[in-house]
Amino acid sequence: MAEIKFIADVMVGKLARWLRVLGFDVAYSNVLHDDEIVRLANSENRIILTRDTGLVARCRSGQCLLIKSGDYKEQIQQVLHTFDLKQFNVFSRCLECNTLLEDVDKEAVFERVPPFVYLTQDRFATCPSCNRVYWHGTHADEMLKRIGACR
Ligand SMILES: [Zn+2]
Repeated sequence: MAEIKFIADVMVGKLARWLRVLGFDVAYSNVLHDDEIVRLANSENRIILTRDTGLVARCRSGQCLLIKSGDYKEQIQQVLHTFDLKQFNVFSRCLECNTLLEDVDKEAVFERVPPFVYLTQDRFATCPSCNRVYWHGTHADEMLKRIGACR
């Protein structure tokens, strides 16, 4: 199955971040103009997520999804429902830059995470692009609960 890819406009930045939490490839920048969004969507075969009807009007059918709600939980529901997405790869992607994370040994992040986190967590991953460290901690659990609550 080909992996579905998205590009989000500036009005749905929070949605973009949440889709990355679930592991989806979402291009997002708050400096992209509509022209650039359409160009990237075409060249990288991405589906545009936007609340801008003007942008939707410029797209081929099926290339764009008009996000209806202003609430990010409803936005996630709309995207998951529209594309029938049921399989998630949670915390596989950097929330900041969309790069796929790489698992690392616990020892490798000893000096890069707070002591409490190091003592209480076992699974760590880093972003090869921006070097952020991620772990499956209470923060992750909280996020997942919130996603679960919105299904
Ligand atoms: Zn990153």
